[in-house]
Amino acid sequence: MKRTEIRQLLKENPAALLNREVCVKGWVRTKRGNKNVAFIALNDGSVIHNIQIVADPAKFDDELRRITTGACICVEGTLVESQGSGQAVEVQAGRIIVYGEADPDSYPLQKKGHSMEFLREIGHLRLRTNTFGAVMRLRHQMSYAIHTFFHDRGFFYFHTPLITASDCEGAGEMFHVSTLDPENPPRKENGLIDWDQDFFGKFTALTVSGQLEGELGATSLGKIYTFGPTFRAENSNTPRHLAEFWMIEPEMAFYDLDDLTALEEEFIKHCVRWALDHCMDDLEFLNKMIDPGLLDRLRSVIDTDFVRLPYTEGIRILEEAVANGRKFEFPVSWGVDLASEHERYLVEEHFRKPVIMIDYPKEIKAFYMKQNDDGRTVQGTDVLFPQIGEIIGGSVREENYDKLMTRINELGIPMKDMWWYLDTRRYGTCPHAGFGLGFERLMLFVTGMANIRDVIPFPRTPKTAEF
Ligand code: ATP
Ligand code: MN
Repeated sequence: MKRTEIRQLLKENPAALLNREVCVKGWVRTKRGNKNVAFIALNDGSVIHNIQIVADPAKFDDELRRITTGACICVEGTLVESQGSGQAVEVQAGRIIVYGEADPDSYPLQKKGHSMEFLREIGHLRLRTNTFGAVMRLRHQMSYAIHTFFHDRGFFYFHTPLITASDCEGAGEMFHVSTLDPENPPRKENGLIDWDQDFFGKFTALTVSGQLEGELGATSLGKIYTFGPTFRAENSNTPRHLAEFWMIEPEMAFYDLDDLTALEEEFIKHCVRWALDHCMDDLEFLNKMIDPGLLDRLRSVIDTDFVRLPYTEGIRILEEAVANGRKFEFPVSWGVDLASEHERYLVEEHFRKPVIMIDYPKEIKAFYMKQNDDGRTVQGTDVLFPQIGEIIGGSVREENYDKLMTRINELGIPMKDMWWYLDTRRYGTCPHAGFGLGFERLMLFVTGMANIRDVIPFPRTPKTAEF
């Protein structure tokens, strides 16, 4: 018999299927009952809700003994209106096949009350919990929303390489890629490792950003975006950093600072609105079980105008707060790189809405950001969010060859392999801008989950790569 997904039974058109024979397949969440009747809550991942199976113990004695939490079964039976409360319809079992038992003495997911830390230790099974089911369905919906957003606005999905030879960005944070024998690498006369003999004939690493190649796309196709894995070997064990995360990096020719911040705001609102429009079941579950402020926070973001806040003004607000007795762990003064506590003060206490901070001191931002006429700030933008802090980092790019080279020389950035990037400024240079959004930071916001390890199926962090 043809299988029907539980999503369809519960949501799409239960009336059309009522009193018909159906076939459902899935994993048992719970089994309860007495000697007259057994109730099985079955979930197949298609939706957060379970379908209730009603089975006669006299008829399914053997099957019911084998069915425990975690078992995988197939049930054929009649879809009927439910007698009990809590569900509209249920399946009256006519036939049960047990695909796979789950030994109750060893199956680690029992009815309830597992900590997130424990669930990380069983990363291969945690996906079968309600919480991770909800998060992963939302992850899919957000990916789809992102592609839809850009596609509908004429952006091209542009694939930038994961293996890169440019070490001008965060070289210290890069994962090295090599096929040389680590025990016995070829060496030059001076004793240094001879990367010329490596697979690519040079030192290569996993990318920390697709931006530089993205700029090549924008200066030819006009508007592009990337959406792919990004790797940073930063040893920061925080709830907001992964060693492997997914980044979305749009890059646009002819965008100025206002265009850029408008796109950042529109983009995040689109994603949040998408979640509210398409994922309400999962959001309601998360709002109930994980974060009671979630739905309110999501709604408030789409209804509010994000603040544009020049860095200098932000510092003034923070200094005023300090003067009025607000304590911060890290000191505040013009020129510092804001800590997460400062960002969250501005967003959660002062403005109480998302803030796009602009015009940062050039010393704390990357070499490629467009320099302002004041000689000390650049057109960088960070979008700061409640709970999360920085969710987007972006900028207008410096398109003037001489200004860019002056900055590169001041900072002593190794550009020997970057001639192709500099060529964008030598041939037909154009004003352009772009940003990077960490997908898992967006997922944190949209799900209300507290730790970035719990919004990606298989997190990579220092000392963990088990699953
Ligand atoms: P942070 O200051 O939070 O470490 P960053 O300034 O180093 O971030 P960018 O280089 O601006 O980050 O990267 C763009 C975006 O990528 C950030 O706004 C953030 O959303 C995301 N991001 C950066 N590093 C990580 C990470 N290790 N794990 C997950 N997301 C990250
Ligand atoms: Mn940043």
